Amino acid sequence: MAARWAEALLKLQRVDLKIRELEARLALLPKEMTELKNKRDAAVAEVNAAASAAKKIELERKGVESEIEKLNAENKRLQQQSAMVKKNTEYQAMLGTIALNEKKVGDLESRELELMDRFEEARKAYRKIRQDNEAAVNAIRAEFDELVAFAGDLKKEIAQLKEERPADIRGVDGETLARYNRLLAGKDGIAPLVRVENEICGSCHLRVTRQALTNMQKGAVTSCENCMHFIYLEDVE
Ligand SMILES: [Zn+2]
Repeated sequence: MAARWAEALLKLQRVDLKIRELEARLALLPKEMTELKNKRDAAVAEVNAAASAAKKIELERKGVESEIEKLNAENKRLQQQSAMVKKNTEYQAMLGTIALNEKKVGDLESRELELMDRFEEARKAYRKIRQDNEAAVNAIRAEFDELVAFAGDLKKEIAQLKEERPADIRGVDGETLARYNRLLAGKDGIAPLVRVENEICGSCHLRVTRQALTNMQKGAVTSCENCMHFIYLEDVE
């Protein structure tokens, strides 16, 4: 058995350390949730990018198509006009333009075929990405919901522990309790009250002083002179 004051403080400390651990876990959740949201946004953006890539090709194809129509219409008009021109030079010039337009139409038609192929590919890629990312987004959503539920559980558990936290600590004076609370709030993450084994402090791992050993053996409230943590011995009568 440890000294009475140490036993009482250990009981409190067990609850407090559990609360501290749960609060630390809870504090990590917002970052994890933000990361999930970012992952979801990236997946959605990828689908949108694939869709607009396909759309861009389709728009270009439509542009090529309307250019072909324009050139064909111009040739039709030139052919009608050429039947009525009387000057040979003018007639030759018209035939030249018609031939040139036909050449352009031929090139544009190859371009259109190429764009149609590319559009098919882009559409297939889009469908694949959409399917993959839909699964990913669903998995992310499920994970997010789990985190929300987990946060709720943690909050509930913390609230319950705080409620159960012994309010009245017999055998521990107010000053000791106040120091205990300050150590608990400290950033080192070490328990306020640590055991001494083989005369070594469980917090700073240095040898405790003779005076401290004597105090502990007497069952008095004792602190490590080096790290200021409360220290106790397991085997005090
Ligand atoms: Zn120490």
